[in-house]
Amino acid sequence: MKEDYYEILGITKGASGAEIKKAYRKMALKYHPDKNPDDNGAEEKFKKAAEAYEILSDADKKARYDQFGHQAFEGGGGGGGFGGGGMNMDDIFSQFGDIFGGGFGGGGGFGGGGRQRVVKGSNLRIRVTLTLEEVANGVEKKIKVKRKVQAPGTTYKTCSTCGGAGQVTRVTNTILGRMQTSAACPTCGGAGQSIDKKPSDADDQGLKVAEETVTVKIPAGVVDGMQLKVTGRGNDAPGNGISGDLLVAIQEEDHPTLKREGDNLHYDMYVSLPDAVLGNSKEIDTVTGKVRIKIEPGVQSGKILRLRGKGIPSINGYGKGDLLVHVNVWTPKTLNKKQKAFFESMKEDEHFEPKPESSDKSFFEKVKDMFS
Ligand SMILES: [Zn+2]
Repeated sequence: MKEDYYEILGITKGASGAEIKKAYRKMALKYHPDKNPDDNGAEEKFKKAAEAYEILSDADKKARYDQFGHQAFEGGGGGGGFGGGGMNMDDIFSQFGDIFGGGFGGGGGFGGGGRQRVVKGSNLRIRVTLTLEEVANGVEKKIKVKRKVQAPGTTYKTCSTCGGAGQVTRVTNTILGRMQTSAACPTCGGAGQSIDKKPSDADDQGLKVAEETVTVKIPAGVVDGMQLKVTGRGNDAPGNGISGDLLVAIQEEDHPTLKREGDNLHYDMYVSLPDAVLGNSKEIDTVTGKVRIKIEPGVQSGKILRLRGKGIPSINGYGKGDLLVHVNVWTPKTLNKKQKAFFESMKEDEHFEPKPESSDKSFFEKVKDMFS
């Protein structure tokens, strides 16, 4: 014969909703597994109280119980009953959000049942140095990482301090009445589990350091100082927690000839006096290999040649920067007799007098144009 739900909670049939709730709170606190470790009798009472509350707190179920007693929920006739199986601890703890006004559950990081905190392993940080070519083209890096992993052979048991709840509840009497506070269990850190057995090379959390090779896909266009996250490749958490993340900080190596400015690249091209006068072609570096560019006869120092799309792809995937080639006509500092004689003979030639045209804008005007 099943016990009467009202008797379990120590109330009478006429009890109000508030009285039912209050009575259940009292029973739940009294027989909570945290307070009665290793006491099966208490756990049984705790479960019975939860079942009684489940029925009596629901107006519809309460009405059926009042009319038909336990039969209302037996033999599949009632629907929504327990079929005699009772409630499991997860069901009971999931009720607590409602009973204890968010003392359990409710906060970020707590599981759906409002019971266990999901313990996350710590993050690992590494730095990866990339060449400009790798930045421009994207790259897959295989990185050796020393991470803490669960040591094989480690077994866990339910934490005896919190009974697996991951939380400890303290009830204190204050001038405002009874205050209910809950905090992460100090023994298990909220995991609800503690180590049962572990191999000798494991640390206190059942973890040991292992070297693993992690493949990190680095997209094109990353910027120095940027941090990429590889989910789940940080340190493992003890027990059934989730692994931390691997945070990869990007460091960009200086390129010998190309300078990056956002998605654009700059290249300083030095042109000899004869090449500037007569024209020529010259090979220059780009992030996708060398390209030959034409030097028009009469090119001016300070001219900027723009190679569209030869810069860095935008990290957002919208287009590519340009490669800006800056022309620098190189003037020799010393001359031999013959060379000196040649330039001396040209000195009075009017043809060598500077006659800038509007297309030979000054450097500053060109920079202004570029950014407008
Ligand atoms: Zn605990």
